[in-house]
Amino acid sequence: MITLDERQIRLQSRAADKQEAILQVGQLLVNSGCIDAGYISSMLGHEQVANTYLGNGIAIPHGLPENRDLIHRTGIAVVQSPQGVTWNPGETVHLIVGIAAKSDEHIEVLRRLTRVLGDKEQVERLTRTGDSRDIIEALTGERPAAPAPVKRDEDVDYPTFFDTVVRNRTGLHARPAAVFVDLAKQFKSNIRVRHGETVSNGKSLLSLLQLGAESGAAIRVSAEGPDATGALKALQAALESGLGDEPEEHPAAAAEATWMPQAAVLTIPGITASGGLAIGPLRQYRQRAIVVSDQPGDPMVEGNRFQQALDAAHGELERLYEEVKTRLGSGKAAIFRVHAEFLNDTGLIGQTISLIYQGHSAAWSWQQTINERVRQVQKLDDPTLAARAVDLSDVGQRVLRHLVGAADEQPVSHDTPVILIAEDLTPSDTAALDADSILGFCTAKGGPTSHTAIIARSLGIPAIVGAGGAVLDLNNGTPAILDGSAGKLYVNPAESDIQTARKAQQQLLQQQEAANSARLAPAATTDGYHVEVAANINRASEAPQAVAAGAEGVGLMRTEFLFLGRDSAPTEEEQFEAYRDMVQALGGRPLIIRTLDIGGDKEVPYLKLPKEDNAFLGIRGIRLCLARPDLFIPQLRAIYRAAAYGPIKIMFPMIAMLEEVQRARAIAEQVQRELNAPSLSLGIMVEVPSAVVMADQLAQEIDFFSIGTNDLTQYVLAMDRLHPQLAKQADALHPAVLRMIAQTVQAASKAGKWVGVCGGLASDPKGALILSGLGVTELSASVPAIPAVKAEIRKHSLAELQTLARRALECRTAAEVRSL
Ligand code: PEP
Ligand code: MG
Repeated sequence: MITLDERQIRLQSRAADKQEAILQVGQLLVNSGCIDAGYISSMLGHEQVANTYLGNGIAIPHGLPENRDLIHRTGIAVVQSPQGVTWNPGETVHLIVGIAAKSDEHIEVLRRLTRVLGDKEQVERLTRTGDSRDIIEALTGERPAAPAPVKRDEDVDYPTFFDTVVRNRTGLHARPAAVFVDLAKQFKSNIRVRHGETVSNGKSLLSLLQLGAESGAAIRVSAEGPDATGALKALQAALESGLGDEPEEHPAAAAEATWMPQAAVLTIPGITASGGLAIGPLRQYRQRAIVVSDQPGDPMVEGNRFQQALDAAHGELERLYEEVKTRLGSGKAAIFRVHAEFLNDTGLIGQTISLIYQGHSAAWSWQQTINERVRQVQKLDDPTLAARAVDLSDVGQRVLRHLVGAADEQPVSHDTPVILIAEDLTPSDTAALDADSILGFCTAKGGPTSHTAIIARSLGIPAIVGAGGAVLDLNNGTPAILDGSAGKLYVNPAESDIQTARKAQQQLLQQQEAANSARLAPAATTDGYHVEVAANINRASEAPQAVAAGAEGVGLMRTEFLFLGRDSAPTEEEQFEAYRDMVQALGGRPLIIRTLDIGGDKEVPYLKLPKEDNAFLGIRGIRLCLARPDLFIPQLRAIYRAAAYGPIKIMFPMIAMLEEVQRARAIAEQVQRELNAPSLSLGIMVEVPSAVVMADQLAQEIDFFSIGTNDLTQYVLAMDRLHPQLAKQADALHPAVLRMIAQTVQAASKAGKWVGVCGGLASDPKGALILSGLGVTELSASVPAIPAVKAEIRKHSLAELQTLARRALECRTAAEVRSL
């Protein structure tokens, strides 16, 4: 909210005319540091081209948009003229509200002004008052106690709050932010979210998006009101569980490009969004730009039209949600819920209504408002959030079509299949596409996390994004080949290349089908060496999916997920049921249950663990298990009880020292004796460099190792696994990490113990080959990656894999390893 103090108000002005009144209000804005004196001329200039008389004795002079650089900060000032100033013939003004708007904080004041406008008595009172606090109260809603506050009220957290970290892989982007807002709105309390110095309204989607909170960002959520505690509890649980963000699909499995054109051809590079080859004619797709000119309108009539257009757009979005949900699932459809949420944004609506009250048409007012917001969102530092500008613009067009009577226009339909070229595709465009007539997409803008990319992957259509403006100049009907895996568009390829591309396309298809149909067969090398391929799962419900994808067991069950998204720890009984259900669903296949790995990036608020400056080096994994027998022992009891229903192994996370293994083993064996349960294999995660170095000693204490390459990479390279800038460099294929793995395998095999890998490297087909060549015998991969990992292993002999691994160990950089 904008602040207004007594120094920004001039009572009892005797300004002789409009010009003098504007000079006075401008001077107040200069004195309060809001504008450069030059902006006053701009305010005067604006009067030549527009009428700033609002009605009922109020005017809102402000400068021309092109002079915004003369504004230092958003602010307003008020000049009271009891005798009145003639603004235009027949229009007398008593309150001159000068506005310097750098961003949209003044909207609230405008909204209040429109209310004041309708209240003649209040205008009368404000025209006569001798107490500037009356004016402040009318415009800001708050009556200042002297002295006026210096800190913007909205920048202050409410007294009850919690601190957490954004866990979604792509930050607080549109879908998770909409889930947050939806939930926040179920409570009466006011909710704020702080990220650094920026505080946003937790019930406004746009405001939340403008926080720019990326994955790993520390945020504070505070609340004030009758149900503040309940609201915070619910929001905290939702944040912990990732706000319903779906895991990103793996870019088309095993779709590595093997095809290259032989003849010279115009090649346009872009960013890989969805793998595979598309061959066909190009077709430019352009939405008809709706041009709206500024027509004067009656505020009542235009206000009603605006409301009707919003209602109609809401109805359409609801239908689209249902339609896309049926076709692609609720995750993909959720974007239309986000769009509907944009339409509830008070900032957008307030600003549009203000413009309507100033005498503009609804269509023009809405277009101005949306365009301004799109520009703001585009400026955000974070590309994922900035990419949401396309959503805002999409929803803006939807409402605009209703306002100008173009709502029935049907986008995109093609008789012959085409490769579609567009500047960017909005969610509404992609939802309206007929998947059968689209061979591939290529967009000039957009990134790999854009909506286009996500939809293309789920439809299995090859796509590249961010190919640059040149693609928009290509003619319709031009033959082309789009290689989604290589991120390249080949324009006018030679006939011979089209032929070879068709063959490669067939092969790719066959490979994918073969990988899929052979997913249940073992991953044996050409010379019969068997690598066990298991699954990483987080919940009982994922066990049947793992089996269906070809998993030969579960190599990592992350039990901490049973503890997230709730407000108390699961009981021994609840855990027992979950573990029992899992092992039963695996039908005799082994299940490795990892004990609680809380801490680091995985926080559980109700455990009230002390805040640590460096959580990744703090009380996490086994350190927490040992420090909290109240958590560790019930979990071990549940595991030993479930072991009566199938083959279960226990694994301890984050082992750094021998003593930890000894203590954990002693506690587990004690539990086993108490329950009179069978003894279980006990293993440890190898994810700390000290465990690698001491692997020969540790091997004496345990039955197996499983290497967590996610953490091992972060600790070996000293790169935070969540760090937005370092994430790309923190590559598990770095030779330093591979050498650590090789060392672990050697130490284990000397002691006759087996080694698995359950970190992300096992899901990467290239990683899987190198790991197998290094002597890792179990790869535990994410469920969707299993068929491709198995298929990749089947293509090679053990000797080939061993050679590949040896060469990888000799490489100097991760890039060299990747290029092998
Ligand atoms: C790992 O660190 O590689 C691992 C598998 O554990 P998590 O990702 O759960 O930390
Ligand atoms: Mg780990």
